[in-house]
Amino acid sequence: MSVRMVLVGPPGAGKGTQAEAVTRKFGVPAVSTGAIFRAHTEAGDELGRLADSFTSRGELVPDEVTDRMVEARLDQPDAAGGFLLDGYPRNLHQVASLDAMLARRGTALDVVLEITADEEAVVGRLLGRAAQEGRKDDTEKVIRHRIALYHETTEPLIAEYRSRGVLVSVDGIGGIDEVASRVCDALDAYLESR
Ligand code: ADP
Repeated sequence: MSVRMVLVGPPGAGKGTQAEAVTRKFGVPAVSTGAIFRAHTEAGDELGRLADSFTSRGELVPDEVTDRMVEARLDQPDAAGGFLLDGYPRNLHQVASLDAMLARRGTALDVVLEITADEEAVVGRLLGRAAQEGRKDDTEKVIRHRIALYHETTEPLIAEYRSRGVLVSVDGIGGIDEVASRVCDALDAYLESR
């Protein structure tokens, strides 16, 4: 099934994990801006060094850089029949950029999935992940900053998409499979009701 989708939620809400379940269900690729930046940083290339100078402090990478990277990724053949964007858009400017990108291609978003989780739960999860994966942006100070930035910069997007009638919200607290089935049921119900 062709579905163009955005996944949004606070750092640590389990977006990456749920993205896997959703991509399996719909057969569309997941496009995670955070993962793409990390891959460039590991490769040590110019984009990676630039991204790292922002991500390691918990700041957003500048919009022009991120917008251009996403547009190039959406032009890859595997995204022609749909995609799941994870971590983009992250502010209202990026919402407008994405609208324009999709309009240029004669398409539009089908649904925006919000995964909710309260702050203490996400901080606990991220500190656990830091111990396992050693992500540079997973120190408590940077995590708190990323969460603050989420409230300030990313949450306004949720209101925008709600007013467009494309928002589906799911509680992200619970086991991975439990949340995945909640997500799949909520998406089925929304997509059938359109
Ligand atoms: P999380 O959702 O857990 O904060 P991500 O893997 O989605 O982690 O993103 C990691 C970092 O990559 C962000 O803190 C930010 O610095 C950068 N980043 C990811 N997506 C974007 C975006 N759309 N715009 C700007 N910066 C981004």
